[in-house]
Amino acid sequence: MVMNALLDLLYPRLCVVCGTRLHEGEQHLCLHCLQHLPRTQYHREESQPMEQLFRGKTEAAFAIAFFTTSPRSEYRNVLHYIKYHDGKECARYLGRLYAEELSASGLLQEIDLLVPVPLHRSRLRRRGYNQSEWIARGIADATGIPVDTTSLLRQKANPSQTRLSLYERWLNTRSIFALREGCDLRGRRLLLVDDIVTTGATLLACAETLQAAAPEKIAFLTLSIAR
Ligand SMILES: [Zn+2]
Repeated sequence: MVMNALLDLLYPRLCVVCGTRLHEGEQHLCLHCLQHLPRTQYHREESQPMEQLFRGKTEAAFAIAFFTTSPRSEYRNVLHYIKYHDGKECARYLGRLYAEELSASGLLQEIDLLVPVPLHRSRLRRRGYNQSEWIARGIADATGIPVDTTSLLRQKANPSQTRLSLYERWLNTRSIFALREGCDLRGRRLLLVDDIVTTGATLLACAETLQAAAPEKIAFLTLSIAR
């Protein structure tokens, strides 16, 4: 206890959204920011708006995101933090939290394998971890669904897409992913997990690659959706 208090004095734990000091019992986000997290509640809606990104392109069992982020939203800090500031545990915490909030919907009971969107080897080495994998681990903590980090591979590093047109992005993301030889996903119910969805091109490219392994179905879950 004394040790914790001392550590907190030397290295105060801060809210990843607003930067205020965390109180005892708060983790990563302060209570205020957690309460005001702009939750999408897609899982409560008859037609999930995120599915529109994939309509006509792939058959998604469901497509849901925990919260929305707009360009000026402070909640963008969360995504930056989990990606660039060794925010593994924060990613895991939010994955677990979302899975817990989803428990009444029954959506995750339709899933038997979590597949995080993979990073390219070189980026994984540089960053040291894959934030999407840690989100998936959080979901696994809450549900017991295993995480598969070996079947889906990223064979090309993904260059920045921000200046490309929608069509160019689509071309760019095709053939980025591949299946590991001998992987067995036949008849499995997969949940693809990523940190954020913008156009959906990355998730779509993953899904198209996974389809070749004949899973029973594929669903999408992200922490955030850009709005
Ligand atoms: Zn806060």
